[in-house]
Amino acid sequence: MDHFEYQSGVLHAEAVSLPAIADAVGTPVYVYSRATLTRHARVFRDALAILPSVRIAFAVKSNPNLAVLKVLAAEGYGADVVSGGEMERALAAGMAPGSVVFSGVGKTTAEMARALQAGIGQFNLESLEEGLELAEIARGQGVVAPCVLRVNPDVDAGTHGKISTGKAENKFGVPFDRAAAIYARLAAEPGLAMRGLALHIGSQLSRLDPLEAAFTKIGGLMRAVRDAGHTITHMDLGGGIGVPYKAGELFPSPEDYAAMVARVTDGWGVTLMFEPGRVITGNTGVLLTRVIRVKEGAGHPWVVVDAAMNDLARPAMYDAWHDFGSVTPDGARMTANIVGPICESSDTFAMAREIDVVARGDLTVFRTAGAYGASMASTYNSRDMVPEVMVDGDRWAVVADRIVPATILAAERVPDFLR
Ligand SMILES: *Cc1c(COP(=O)(O)O)cnc(C)c1O
Repeated sequence: MDHFEYQSGVLHAEAVSLPAIADAVGTPVYVYSRATLTRHARVFRDALAILPSVRIAFAVKSNPNLAVLKVLAAEGYGADVVSGGEMERALAAGMAPGSVVFSGVGKTTAEMARALQAGIGQFNLESLEEGLELAEIARGQGVVAPCVLRVNPDVDAGTHGKISTGKAENKFGVPFDRAAAIYARLAAEPGLAMRGLALHIGSQLSRLDPLEAAFTKIGGLMRAVRDAGHTITHMDLGGGIGVPYKAGELFPSPEDYAAMVARVTDGWGVTLMFEPGRVITGNTGVLLTRVIRVKEGAGHPWVVVDAAMNDLARPAMYDAWHDFGSVTPDGARMTANIVGPICESSDTFAMAREIDVVARGDLTVFRTAGAYGASMASTYNSRDMVPEVMVDGDRWAVVADRIVPATILAAERVPDFLR
C-alpha cells in the first residue's frame, strides 16, 4: 500500500499534486512519501515482533537519502552499510553507532579502522583474510570488534542472476563447508568477538522457500559451531524480500515471512538480525518524468521521457519492470516503447507496453522507484544528478538537490601539460 493516488484526476503524493512538484523542481525527480515509508517500516517491525529478540538494520544502499534515514532512525531502525560513505550517512542521520552493521566483501583497511573508531555494532565478515586484518586493526586500537561470519549457503534464491548472492559461484561470504573451521580460527583472535553467523542470499525474492532453505541450513551450522564449543548469540538473516513491481503481483507479506522465521528459528536462543532494504523503501517513491516527445517508429511509437537509465538503472541492469502511467490520464490507452534520451539501446524502460495515452509535455511516473532508484543514479551522458523530494501530508521539501553539469565540471581540472 502506498500514498500515491489520483485526486480529481491528478496523481498526488499524499496531499501534494505531482505537477506542483514538477513545476517547482523540474523533471526528472524522485518523489518519496513519508507516510508510506513510515507505514512500511512499522508493518515490517510489527510483523517481526512475534520473535523473541530482534534488531533491524535498514539496508542503506536501497535508499541512502539522509531524510529517509532520519525517518527510519525515528522508527528504531539501525543501518546495514556496505561502505564507509554509507556508514557516515547512517551516523549523520543520528543512528546510534551500535545499531550499525558493516557488510560487504571489500571493506578497506581505512574503512574498518574508521568503523572501529566510530564504535559500530557489528562487522559481518566475508572472509578469513578480512577477519584477520580486522583483528590486527582492532588490536592496534586496543579494542575488540564484534563480528559475525557471513556464510554462503549455496542456495538458489530464484531471482535475477545479477541480484543473487547466495550461490557458491557468488563472491559473498565463506563457503558453507569451510565456515565452521574459519569461525574457529577467527574466534581464537583476541581482536575479535565472534558472536554469530550471517547470510543474505539475494534481492527481490518472490518466494519464501529459498530463504527457509537457507535459514534451515545456517541453523544446522549454528548448532555445529556451538557443539565445537563456541558461543553464538546473534544470527543475521539478511534482507531480500521482494516487492510487487507490476500491479496485481502477489508477494509474501512481512507476516508470512515472520511466521516462517519463527518456525525455523524456534529454540535458537539468539538475537535475530534483519537487513531489509527494498521491502521498506521500494513503494515509497516514484520517479516523476516528462514526455520529451513521441517519435514514430517501425513498430510501436517511442515515448521519449526526460528520465533515463542514469536516473533509474534497474530496467537496463536487471530487465526490471516499473509500472508507468500518466499523472493526468484520460482513460485512453496506447501501446508504446518507453525510452530515455541516453545514447545506449539499453536506455529502454519498456517495450510494447500498454500505457495511458501520452503526448509531448505530459507528466508521467515510474512507480515503485524508492529502492535502488536514486541510490544507483549517475550523471552518465553529462546529465543532471537527479534530485529527490519528500512529501509529508501537504508539505514537501527537496531532500537532495539537482546537481547540474556545471558543478561537476567545476571539479575537473585541465593539467598543466595540456595548457
Ligand atoms: C543489498 C543487501 C541487503 C538488502 O537487500 P534487499 O533486497 O534490498 O532487502 C541486505 N543485506 C546485504 C548484505 C545486502 O548486500
